[in-house]
Amino acid sequence: MSGGAPDIAARLERLRLDIATAARNVGRDPASVNLVAVSKTHGVEAIAVAYEAGQSRFGENRVQEAAAKFPGLRARHPDIELHLVGSLQRNKALDAVLLFDVIHSLDRAGLAEAIARAGDRVGRVPRCLIQVNTGREPQKSGVEPDGLDDLLARAHALGLPIIGLMCVPPADADPAPHFAWLAEAARARALPELSMGMSGDFEQAIAHSATLIRVGSAIFGSRPPLTGR
Ligand SMILES: *Cc1c(COP(=O)(O)O)cnc(C)c1O
Repeated sequence: MSGGAPDIAARLERLRLDIATAARNVGRDPASVNLVAVSKTHGVEAIAVAYEAGQSRFGENRVQEAAAKFPGLRARHPDIELHLVGSLQRNKALDAVLLFDVIHSLDRAGLAEAIARAGDRVGRVPRCLIQVNTGREPQKSGVEPDGLDDLLARAHALGLPIIGLMCVPPADADPAPHFAWLAEAARARALPELSMGMSGDFEQAIAHSATLIRVGSAIFGSRPPLTGR
């Protein structure tokens, strides 16, 4: 799959129908599900095609890659909204704060402090979601479930706008219990946004109340093999 222009527009159209069906199946308004089109590894041309097909919310997982692709696109299309879905190093916090509207991967106090400091410097701070390592996988980003409340309290003390929770369930597991856990954790803390669901499991995520689904390959086609990602 190369992801040429007709493919991207057709896949987006198909995806919108599938999102609407999944929402209606559980009695939700399809407009309550917001699609983040994850464009990592795909070029500016592919992103522009998706934009022309009506998609203005994009997600990237690396600051440097996003910084290379999006400033030009945004100069032409100021309504583009950019989300960071990958993990963030403290030393990239300033770049991230300048570039992104929403950060899905806040997962530790040191990073919250770096984002808050960067926000003070530039006079704007992205909305943030706390990423929770619901599968307690040692290699994966995300705060441990037991550490969520401490991190939330720290983020609030720093004045960060925390809008919700995010998770990436273990690749080989049924995602449903992870989605259910995250939904309950957000509800119990009155956090409105739930970032969960990717190309392979967005319908289940919608059934579990996802408000932000992060879909890449179902729109842009397959990515080159993972190298150091
Ligand atoms: C790449 C990525 C996605 C999109 O994955 P697809 O399976 O291509 O839809 C979603 N979330 C995160 C955190 C990602 O890194």
